[in-house]
Amino acid sequence: MISWEQAFEGVTNGIPGLDRDDFEMVPKEDGWVGVRLPQEMMFELLRTPTYLSIQGDRWQFCCRRPMIFIGEWNRRGFMDNAPDGDGRRLFQEVMQEHADGMWESHFPDAAGIYVFRCPSCGRKTAYYDMD
Ligand SMILES: [Zn+2]
Repeated sequence: MISWEQAFEGVTNGIPGLDRDDFEMVPKEDGWVGVRLPQEMMFELLRTPTYLSIQGDRWQFCCRRPMIFIGEWNRRGFMDNAPDGDGRRLFQEVMQEHADGMWESHFPDAAGIYVFRCPSCGRKTAYYDMD
């Protein structure tokens, strides 16, 4: 998540316990960790139309660039977008955190699953939230 104030500061809002090596991590209070980003990248994200999520934006990054939000998918979305029609495999591939058996449960129909694609390498990633 990025606010105008954070863009001027050059550090994102962050999430708890974030740890990755492609950007500079900026520890904040209570275990939250922000990310130092080039300011022009942050202003670009602020200008990008936001997507509708239950718990607020969570921009994804790959190849040191913001990823493109491609949609909120349910079971049907994964099946329609799987090159071989194997929605379950695509789901397992792109989900950042998933429990085994999630695809078989009602989960893919109940949660908001946000899918992103890297404009550089084409990798997809997804995360979910619930109310
Ligand atoms: Zn990439």
